[in-house]
Amino acid sequence: MDEKNIIPLLLDLEANLARKTADILRLIKKYRKVDGSHFSYTEIIESYKKLAGTKGLQKFQPELVEKILMKPIRTMSGVAPVTVLTKPYPCPGKCIFCPNDLRMPKSYLADEPGAQRAEKNYFDPYLQTTNRLEALYAMGHSVEKVELIILGGTWTAYPQAYQIWFIKECFRAINEFRHKNDSNTIVKKYQTFQKKFKASHKKWQTQFFLSNDPVKNKAAFAKLQIKGEDINSQSKVNYNQLVTKYYLEPEKALGVVDYQKASWAELEREQLTNETAQQRCVGLVIETRPDEITPSSIRVIRRLGATKIQLGIQSLDDEILRKNKRGHGVAIIRQAFALLRQAGFKLHVHFMANLYGSTPATDKRDFVKLFKDPDFRPDELKIYPCSLIETAELMRYYKKGLWQPYTHEELLDITSFTLTHTPEYCRITRMIRDIPSQDIVVGNKKSNFRQIAEAHVKATDQKMQDIRAREIRGQKFVEKDIRLKITTYQTAVSQEKFLQFVYQDKILAFLRLSLPKRGITPIIQELADAAIIREIHVYGRSLGIGQKEKEQAQHFGFGGQLIAKAVKICQAKSFQKLAVISAIGTREYYRQRGFSDGELYQFLEL
Ligand code: SF4
Repeated sequence: MDEKNIIPLLLDLEANLARKTADILRLIKKYRKVDGSHFSYTEIIESYKKLAGTKGLQKFQPELVEKILMKPIRTMSGVAPVTVLTKPYPCPGKCIFCPNDLRMPKSYLADEPGAQRAEKNYFDPYLQTTNRLEALYAMGHSVEKVELIILGGTWTAYPQAYQIWFIKECFRAINEFRHKNDSNTIVKKYQTFQKKFKASHKKWQTQFFLSNDPVKNKAAFAKLQIKGEDINSQSKVNYNQLVTKYYLEPEKALGVVDYQKASWAELEREQLTNETAQQRCVGLVIETRPDEITPSSIRVIRRLGATKIQLGIQSLDDEILRKNKRGHGVAIIRQAFALLRQAGFKLHVHFMANLYGSTPATDKRDFVKLFKDPDFRPDELKIYPCSLIETAELMRYYKKGLWQPYTHEELLDITSFTLTHTPEYCRITRMIRDIPSQDIVVGNKKSNFRQIAEAHVKATDQKMQDIRAREIRGQKFVEKDIRLKITTYQTAVSQEKFLQFVYQDKILAFLRLSLPKRGITPIIQELADAAIIREIHVYGRSLGIGQKEKEQAQHFGFGGQLIAKAVKICQAKSFQKLAVISAIGTREYYRQRGFSDGELYQFLEL
């Protein structure tokens, strides 16, 4: 660290802390490193964290970091998101729009930022988690409440021993962060596998194996990559076959499969540590297909610690699902919703517009159905208009003139429609997948299309009421003007109550309460006679556990007040107990509020 030059800058920053952000940023540019370059914001924050309280500097002041960061949006929703990818692996799906990038787990593209991070870390869960936590921490974000988002292909299709190991390693990385770092040992392990592979590579007919160098991997796979237009029912090669040949077989022979497995006991040890660790996992998300959801897969997913499921439904039209080779129909989607809701999971749904066979009119019709039909009604949404990718089978349809991307106007029409037709209990987490423009063959290349659609909605005097449009973020509020609003809606298996604290048109906190319909046999025995808290979310900057900050929503006790209200509702409806689908890192929070541990859930006797 260039201590000699950075200390005067830090002293200057302290002295000018009351000034406007723009002045602070100008001030930073006055100082240079020994080599003449400017200090990066990360360098300044890291140095400040190390040196605060020494060398004439006052003790650490979070405001200084905030001024430098300007807008810490990433953790504004209250938790630090850590996204990790599973390794390339066969997927049971054959969806024609899905990319077939052999360097990635199914449906991901090597050029996507998160995917590159995963590749550079051998798709290893410990390395990816540590790396992401370090990056967030270096930028000044609190990482004490972590939402772990596991993406890649179809989670439930991976061997169970791999699933357990993957999550165990994510937990271990969170538990050890800033105390211990096992990264070097893990990297050496992969290097040893590589050496063993090189010694016998002729056997595998490829130069490639487990490299963490994206440039080398790209070159090694250049000739092997699938061309989407060549895929048809007679295709001799497909993603699953090639991934089996180039990854799975060598992995098995070289002992990687044995390394990448763990027992339930090993996972549970890390989970137990996480319950009281400095960094806690307050949410765990996995991604799968509707036809993979069964009562037994749900029990496994829950035991792993998951609290939310990302479910690719894509369409609610049997014919469109068939044309796109999804491998299941709408009835299976209905069943998956019912099972997951009975188990209390939060439902994060992927919905695609512009699929083969759809039109803006059918997309709108399906979107209306998503909320009108009580069998669906998801909690969160990703709306992804279909993008044409070179390696996807859709290329063949495009070349034959059977599929065309929507025009700008059509896309604007459908995205604006979804923004204005999403109810207040749902959050549109993302709109338009962030695919690098060079990977899109034709169609929309604007990754900021959500902003364009939002601007259009405002300009045409329409309203958005989804959660994301109403989050309080850093906005100040007046405590006496906060009110509790309860929205009730029915689903196939429950009555749902969406309890929210609102200030003007902003949302400060919410609780999702599920009141199961009587007479339905529970798929998880311990949930019999129980209402379920599916989610509590309090907005405000992600603060450290126990750390206070004035006028931030997280510390006004909204969580406790919402639970008290939920208890009253359940008592009035004669439920025997209130269950919560708690994340591993929130178990202590619920224990302190009187909940006791069950097998997969925590319970409050009513
Ligand atoms: S199920 Fe998902 S990952 Fe698998 S092929 Fe279909 S879209 Fe791709």
